[in-house]
Amino acid sequence: MGDDGVSWWDWLFGWRARKRIDPPKKELDRRDITVYIDPAVDESLVRSALKLIPGYWKFSVAEWDESQLTSLGGEWAGFLLPTQDNTVVVFDGKSRGVRYAGGTVGKRVGVAVFGRESELIIALRIWHELLHTEKLDADGMMTNRGFRDWLPGEVRAAFEEKARPHDWFWQIGYYTYLTETLVGRRR
Ligand SMILES: [Zn+2]
Repeated sequence: MGDDGVSWWDWLFGWRARKRIDPPKKELDRRDITVYIDPAVDESLVRSALKLIPGYWKFSVAEWDESQLTSLGGEWAGFLLPTQDNTVVVFDGKSRGVRYAGGTVGKRVGVAVFGRESELIIALRIWHELLHTEKLDADGMMTNRGFRDWLPGEVRAAFEEKARPHDWFWQIGYYTYLTETLVGRRR
């Protein structure tokens, strides 16, 4: 499980210590991501969430600026997206009455929060959309063969028996796997 002595289980249960999937070499690109945080959302909660996302993505919080955002229509009514690439907007989904919690167009990401979510859930939601911006199969946890092969045997058995779509516990592992794939691809 990696070459620096940190097991998958260590990562899962001590997952703030996620050095294993931080980009270790300076020749590896990071993604510089600008983040807009809706004044209606608890900024400190979002900042805490950003710290839980692997260091491949480097976040800078910018001052809220609606001129840098666009609002979608139709089924996505009220949903905000940035106008620039490599940008994330985190907004209050409740007051805007949106149906979906996250969406990505190219490299532009919108994430809604609804008031009572933990930093972990918000982090997973942003991480999920960032994986989409890298054209990774963020929605494929239940069917991704590479992920199953990547899991240690006894963990794989538990996954096959217990996992459900949108289960945050397994999403941590799945997004870790996808991020490792991404970082490996760029080595
Ligand atoms: Zn998705």
